[in-house]
Amino acid sequence: MQLQEMFNLKGKVALVTGGGRGIGKHMATGLAEAGADVVLASRNLNNLEEAAAELSATYGIRAIPIACDVSKEEKIAALVDDTLAKMGRIDILVNNAGVTWGAPTLEFPLEQWDKIFNTNVRGVWMLSQRVARTMKEQGGGVIINVSSIMGFRGSEEEWHPSVPYNSAKAAINLLTMNLAVKLAPHKIRVNAVAPGFFRTDMMAFVEKPGMENVHKMMVRAIPLKRSAGVDDMKGVAVFLSSDASAYVTGQILGVDGGLLAK
Ligand code: NAP
Repeated sequence: MQLQEMFNLKGKVALVTGGGRGIGKHMATGLAEAGADVVLASRNLNNLEEAAAELSATYGIRAIPIACDVSKEEKIAALVDDTLAKMGRIDILVNNAGVTWGAPTLEFPLEQWDKIFNTNVRGVWMLSQRVARTMKEQGGGVIINVSSIMGFRGSEEEWHPSVPYNSAKAAINLLTMNLAVKLAPHKIRVNAVAPGFFRTDMMAFVEKPGMENVHKMMVRAIPLKRSAGVDDMKGVAVFLSSDASAYVTGQILGVDGGLLAK
């Protein structure tokens, strides 16, 4: 197969959770540029409508927004039904939607633990299971989960006070590996990306006055000495979604400027 053909996603349908902003939008942009039609799903319809209009105008693909809270089982079922009704199939699922919350470890509230796990782990499981049923019927597909470098390590209280976030992302790493093994007989590949420091809303706290030192220290800790943006994730999303990675499954790919290598 020629390289250009390998990376081409024309005729594919991608469902991207949290696709209206941040890393989800970066990934949806890559997939759209490679020719895929995209469904963007999250709670806030305004973001999604704007992003979908931008992607279809820029890349000439079909992009539709669907409101969905991935922590709710009935909303997940409706999202899959709605996507299939509007697009007819799902070839690529990007489980990107995620939340975090910070509080001192000894006072961390249980309801925030539940919110993080319900969105970042339970949501990924529920949507993957449903979409995998469709992919099995279709003869195959690709699932990409968005983990984090935090899923590989603990972090000091002053840097990142969120035990459930790191724990949830560690769960995603194993969910990725285990689903890759379980779904391989159905020709469904499952991989994850582990971002380092992307300047999105989730990381907006480092832009606040008084946080300049934290920001500088974070960049200094990254071997490539910079934070990341859209061009750092677009190509990775296309690689993992396309035939270029046909023999890659069960992997967690650090997109982190070298942080995991330290
Ligand atoms: P972000 O800008 O805060 O975006 C989070 C996305 O998740 C939004 O699109 C949000 O949309 C969606 N979302 C949150 N809760 C949801 C729910 N219950 N149902 C559906 N959608 C929901 O953060 P980001 O940095 O792009 O993060 C994206 C992913 O990358 C997350 O999984 C995060 O853990 C991971 N990550 C980020 C970094 C980083 O440096 N930024 C590093 C490592 C990992 P709505 O608000 O419209 O629902």
